[in-house]
Amino acid sequence: MDDCYETKLREFAEGKRLGRLTNTVACSREDRCDACGSTQPRTLLGLKDSINGRYYFVGQNCLAWLMDNGMVARARYRDRAASAYTREMELRRNGTAEERPAIEVAPVQLDGHPPRSKAACLRRTILVVERDGEYRALVRLSDGQRSVSARAGESCWHWEWTRHNGGAVLDRVWRPRRAMGASVLRAHRDALERWRMGAGAAA
Ligand SMILES: [Zn+2]
Repeated sequence: MDDCYETKLREFAEGKRLGRLTNTVACSREDRCDACGSTQPRTLLGLKDSINGRYYFVGQNCLAWLMDNGMVARARYRDRAASAYTREMELRRNGTAEERPAIEVAPVQLDGHPPRSKAACLRRTILVVERDGEYRALVRLSDGQRSVSARAGESCWHWEWTRHNGGAVLDRVWRPRRAMGASVLRAHRDALERWRMGAGAAA
């Protein structure tokens, strides 16, 4: 998975509050994944942005990545993917919506020099280790001249309410995937923040 794949997905999710729809839609030949722009997926999964009420359709891999990185809520919307799809495609065709599909506004990548945003294609090095029930992530950003890094740790143990004999019990639950995603995301955010503030050493 290259840096630009993650950048595309982050840009896709930015400013949206996404939740999943029930059911999937089968792709026609001209369909693309709204998150990464790939024409590969045979099946698209529906997402709804609760901020603007619009729908997006992404492949299984992108959905998994977005969920692992905490960018899609666990809850599901009842809206049926098939009817949401019909409605959304009509909106896009008519061009009435101010917001166009993510793929059309994403900057084109040319030899590692993004035309618009300077931060779009920083080189990211991500290192995650698990030790003593905790994931520790180190994220390093570099553009060849300057580099910053940030660390974050997240326990695999997570306190959660679970059902037990008709009641609710606060339980310590082992959630390694969540911890891994959360530690990387936090370290990445910190590193980006530091990068924007101009911190860092000569690479
Ligand atoms: Zn995709």
